[in-house]
Amino acid sequence: MASTSILQSPNDPRQFEYLKLSNGLAVLLVHQADSEKSAAALTVNVGHFDDPADREGLAHFLEHMLFLGSRAYPQAGELQHFISEHGGSHNAWTGTEHSQFYFDIEQQHFAAGLSRFAAMFSEPLFSSDYVEKERQAIEAEFSLKLKDDSRRIYQVHKESINPAHPFAKFSVGNAQTLADRPGDSLQQAVSQFFHQQYSAQRMSVCLIGPQSLAELRTLAIQSFSQISDHLPAKAPLQVPLYLEQQQQLQLNIKPHKSSNRLVISFALPDIQPWYRYKVVSFVAHLLGDEGPGSLLALLKQQGLVNQLSAGGGIDGSNYKDFTLAFELTVAGRQQYRQIVQALFAKVRLLKDSPFPANLFAERQKLLNWAYRFYEPATVLQTATDLALNMQHYPLQDVLFGDYRMEVPPEALYRQLLDYFCSRNLRLMLVADDVTTDREARWYHTPYQLQPLDPNWLTTLDTQSPLPELSLPLPNPYLQSELKLLDKAAHMTSPQHFCNQPALQLWYKADTDFASPKGHIYLQITLPQSCATIRQQAASRLWVELLLDRFNQQLYAATTAGLNYFLHVHRQGISLQTNGLTANQLALFADLLRQLPDPVFCPQRFAELKQQLCRHWQNSSKNKPVARLFSQLSALLQPQNPEPEELAQALAKLSFADFSLFRQQLWQQLHLEALLLGNWSPADAQQLQTLLTDWQGAQGAAGQALSAVQYRYAQPGPVWLCSANPHQADHALVAYLAATDKSPAQMARFMLANHLLAPRYFHQLRTEQQLGYLVGTGYVPVNTLPGMAFYVQSPAYPAAALYQATVQFFQQCVSELSLLDNDEFQSLKQGLAAQLCERDTSLSARAKRFWLALGQADYQFDLNQQILSCLNALTASDFLAFLQQLLAKDYPVLILATDSAPENNYVQSLHKAELLKILQRQ
Ligand SMILES: [Zn+2]
Repeated sequence: MASTSILQSPNDPRQFEYLKLSNGLAVLLVHQADSEKSAAALTVNVGHFDDPADREGLAHFLEHMLFLGSRAYPQAGELQHFISEHGGSHNAWTGTEHSQFYFDIEQQHFAAGLSRFAAMFSEPLFSSDYVEKERQAIEAEFSLKLKDDSRRIYQVHKESINPAHPFAKFSVGNAQTLADRPGDSLQQAVSQFFHQQYSAQRMSVCLIGPQSLAELRTLAIQSFSQISDHLPAKAPLQVPLYLEQQQQLQLNIKPHKSSNRLVISFALPDIQPWYRYKVVSFVAHLLGDEGPGSLLALLKQQGLVNQLSAGGGIDGSNYKDFTLAFELTVAGRQQYRQIVQALFAKVRLLKDSPFPANLFAERQKLLNWAYRFYEPATVLQTATDLALNMQHYPLQDVLFGDYRMEVPPEALYRQLLDYFCSRNLRLMLVADDVTTDREARWYHTPYQLQPLDPNWLTTLDTQSPLPELSLPLPNPYLQSELKLLDKAAHMTSPQHFCNQPALQLWYKADTDFASPKGHIYLQITLPQSCATIRQQAASRLWVELLLDRFNQQLYAATTAGLNYFLHVHRQGISLQTNGLTANQLALFADLLRQLPDPVFCPQRFAELKQQLCRHWQNSSKNKPVARLFSQLSALLQPQNPEPEELAQALAKLSFADFSLFRQQLWQQLHLEALLLGNWSPADAQQLQTLLTDWQGAQGAAGQALSAVQYRYAQPGPVWLCSANPHQADHALVAYLAATDKSPAQMARFMLANHLLAPRYFHQLRTEQQLGYLVGTGYVPVNTLPGMAFYVQSPAYPAAALYQATVQFFQQCVSELSLLDNDEFQSLKQGLAAQLCERDTSLSARAKRFWLALGQADYQFDLNQQILSCLNALTASDFLAFLQQLLAKDYPVLILATDSAPENNYVQSLHKAELLKILQRQ
């Protein structure tokens, strides 16, 4: 087939070629001239739906095993090692009907990486040593998610559908489903499954890189032609997801984390054949609207609902659940039927109205802009997207499919609306106080299944429209046309556009991505927002209330390609907008104007206060490793307290306290802003005027504040134990901070992490199977470099995890003295390649410069300095550094879920004692 048949954005400079190998494998080649990396992705039309009935989780287990040795590259871990040594990454997932495998790597190593990757799919070994290890890995992965509500609820959903549909199967697998049985070993089962499912006709591959199409073609033929083609492509699913008796039901589910949610769902057929009309997402846009006259606006005004998201739900090759998920208030929990009735009134309105062609045209316009000014993703993202698109779209639409939006035939639109009726309705109520009478398998989720009252259902279909509900108004933010800056306006780094003591504005016109978009960042420093935990808690509630208020009024902006964000920052709040530059300054001005003095009502205050407290209290049920990291951050940065502390402070805050807090907030303020993207100098001037006037109206100018931070600096490890009553898992985080903030220290810590990450994972997870979550990270606190080792285990106490970590340190020190110069150089190159990675999008660039400003890197050359230090680093210097870092007397801060090992080397402390010995930086 000729490659010219693939539709491509006029702004897309890449070249494409489609190829079918002799074994029937579909391959898409993408030449991207300016990329430093290459990437590959392989999608196969096999997923957990294909698991044998008595071997649930087998597809997932196979996904794990494929990475662990092939005939050509028998050594397990070799592929991972090769990829990470050459600046790349890899991963895989198993879905319902598809699985995907992918990696990226420095382009000069692509051929060698690809040869290893492709060998996984032609002759995998399934060696028995690793069958046992990975069975444990899957068991650990399963038990890690036992308390995860999305999994727990998913399982209930599975038990309430047609048991003959493969969605009913348990997808993850565990030691039980994957056990060896007499005459049926797991090794035999996985090998058999591979031969009965994996075949070239069921696969699609995407290769992308700076290589020419001819080179990529040769690589594809060389690497993938060996894959066997003994099976035909798959037949589509026929079994229905729901039988008639499985509709008109209500599921009551008790969550692990406290929650109050109502999910209303309508069963649709396969929607993929309608992709060219995007008619389902259009209906989601109409029902999920949040502006005046919307369902959400009405339900909020009635005090029933805090949030709504529309259009989600499971989908596959013969089914789609269209869901509307509501976050309920306490009143909404009691009167949830009223919410269903209001939804049916909205549906009635749509059914009674003509097709809203003007609103559809707005959606088309926006999607057309997105396509015309397409934004390049990373090569890895592109490879995974396209290898998956190849399974869903005809070749012509492999790029355009997500953007194609034709006016649907009226009959199709009506047909779709007809599915929104009580016949296809199910409700799911997820709340702490529901009555339950059974438990779901595997996850033990308490639930109850009830038929909905037939009389009530009849009234739903005859709901009349409510006067408060209307269709969205024409979008004021879609009026102007898009204009691009002249290429010559481009600036290499931000210019200090305004430099006054209380107002700093940086400006950078950027035309590199030929994008009509831009970013505005503003940090507002408010000393009265962050001095105490009480102020910090009040600040967060204040931001929630502001967002709640903006929501209805500015919703139109968010559906017109504009976004806004409001966060609590360590020293105040930050306001960001991004998206199309046309109309963005107007949106920014709107937001700014409303910040200081909106009137909040006590009822909304109480509702959001309760929601926020619940959110913070739920954090005690987070994964142990995540809790330890949040504790680490709170220890080292007092302006970043733990959620439980915030919840306690907020619970005591009255509406009167809050009003007083808001009055005092504006006593001092300092502004720092960045404008970056498709902006002219006149835009920068306009922003400066806006900020100056606004600041003048608020009162006193203030100073920028410096962040407070601490470091543990005494010799030897210190251990802080924090019990974790909600979790059975054990966890350990060991944190090693640098002694100073120099670029040389940054280079050393980054390189140490780069070297140790794959080794630590291999040792503790692959070889010793101590836990499923194992890793290391470069974790700077503010700008002080540091490195963390973490592991979470369902089976071993923290003391054992610590012993394994210390043993790993010792082993590294002795083995690494053997590191030869070639290996050291290639290690450095791998990290250097990551540091030099060019910005792949305007948002990545904006983020990078904003971060630099946050680090006071006003020359924007910190990365360059780190790179020079890295280049200058010799193998012997680095080894000396590592020996010191991994030595017994290095100040290591250990956070763990249980007590320290019984030896006199680790000093065990309570939090109060630890806080006393931390040093302020
Ligand atoms: Zn897995």
